[in-house]
Amino acid sequence: MAIATRPTTPPRFRTQAFIDGAFRDAASGETFATENPATGEVLAHVAAGGSQDVDVAVRAARRAFDDGRWSRLAPAARKQVLLRFADALEAHADELATLDALEGGKPITDTRDVDLPDTVRTFRWYAEAIDKVFDAVAPTGPEALGLIVREPIGVVGAVLPWNFPILMAAWKAAPALAAGNSLVVKPSRLTSLSAIRMAELAAESGLPDGVLNVVPGPGAAAGAALGRHMDVDKVTFTGSTEVGRLFLAYAAESNIKEVTLELGGKSPQVVLADPPDLDAVAEQVLFAALMNQAENCSCGSRLIVQREVEEALLERMLARLPEWHVGDPMSPDTRLGPMVERPHLEKVLGYIDVGRAEGAEVVTGGSRILEETGGYFVAPTIFRGVRNTMRIAREEIFGPVLSTITFDTEAEAIQLANETPYGLAASVYTRDLDAAFRVSRALRAGTVGVNAYSEGDVTTPFGGYKQSGFGGRDKGLEALEQYTEKKTIWVALR
Ligand code: NAD
Repeated sequence: MAIATRPTTPPRFRTQAFIDGAFRDAASGETFATENPATGEVLAHVAAGGSQDVDVAVRAARRAFDDGRWSRLAPAARKQVLLRFADALEAHADELATLDALEGGKPITDTRDVDLPDTVRTFRWYAEAIDKVFDAVAPTGPEALGLIVREPIGVVGAVLPWNFPILMAAWKAAPALAAGNSLVVKPSRLTSLSAIRMAELAAESGLPDGVLNVVPGPGAAAGAALGRHMDVDKVTFTGSTEVGRLFLAYAAESNIKEVTLELGGKSPQVVLADPPDLDAVAEQVLFAALMNQAENCSCGSRLIVQREVEEALLERMLARLPEWHVGDPMSPDTRLGPMVERPHLEKVLGYIDVGRAEGAEVVTGGSRILEETGGYFVAPTIFRGVRNTMRIAREEIFGPVLSTITFDTEAEAIQLANETPYGLAASVYTRDLDAAFRVSRALRAGTVGVNAYSEGDVTTPFGGYKQSGFGGRDKGLEALEQYTEKKTIWVALR
């Protein structure tokens, strides 16, 4: 794919809520500023949706669901609309990639070459899947016929994070729409623009009004209103463990809506003393630790390495670090953009101070850089001499700060890797096939990469063990489980 350093025409920002097929201001008339974290400049003012806007959107979604304009279409008919929608996303990929790069501080090479192609693939995959999944017949005797059928769950609220704005919207909306639901999407306050534009493109592709609504706004207002709404059947949430917890409370306090949570992580990368190719391992370990500015739920933020290869591995990682050029997200050379906002920059720098104070050694990085740009850049930072009990090894930093921890035996590696409240992802590097399977089965994580950092692809389920997730999986056919209810139809036969 061709790379341009700047968008030829700056995208027009859609900044209103998109409800029932039309753009609207927030009921309060209020807006909030969204900024470019590479410069600190305001990009746009976005409608600050609150409970009234959420209520209007939920009512539109409910009407659409109940009258069957989408929910009762044949799966093959939904597929046709979703394929057109995927084509529209592809045709506007540059524009959408630019929105996420400008607002999220993500390198344009990532948004354009990874996030947008994955977004399009996700919609196509669920569109293609939905008229090929079958329901089940129970193994009854001749006196009855037991049908186990799946039905769309109804009105789904999708509350999104800022780190992969359009891709997270796709992970939720593609299976939910394919299954026949209506949606109200609440993007992160920091990255609303691509979700709003996406809803407009869906409408232009023939998705009926009210089926996909987007209400931007602060989490404590719009997000909480969705979580507490009595007529939302399900909330699917990706974000921090702290806010995920609130959604369980919202559900308990309102209508016991179903809740799926995709949460944080502190993922281990376990390198045994016999990796296949130390250079390749160095490349993958850095990729896991740094990609997307390390603002990545499955970031491999703990390097758990067998003592005898630590030195050689760190050496190779340092040799490769200059490949991770930090700078303007719109430049094709950039692999690391800024932190998403100033408070997050301060949080990440605070953790670097904590690491030093706890006695860990800074091998490289350790400070803010490019301050003159006005952007929130942090130098990629590697600590060694980290103990698993230190805060930098236990808490999700969500910035380019890698903790190196050494071990002597495989059993110790497994114990260190699992000694965390999280369990989203992990990886293991070894040439020994038996050790690879032993360790990957012993790791308490939703995804384990062997000799590579991986989240799988659209065909494989993604989600967390322990405090990294709850109530279902994104991606794969498993995601359809999130967005359907199971019904038993018991037919007595004479
Ligand atoms: P966040 O929890 O701060 O926000 C997520 C969403 O919740 C946003 O839309 C926000 O507006 C909303 N929200 C915030 N406060 C709320 C409240 N009081 N009530 C209701 N809604 C509220 O998370 P973030 O900072 O946007 O994203 C980063 C986090 O997301 C990290 O912890 C990361 O690990 C996690 N994440 C997980 C996955 C996964 O698949 N497991 C993927 C991406 C990100």
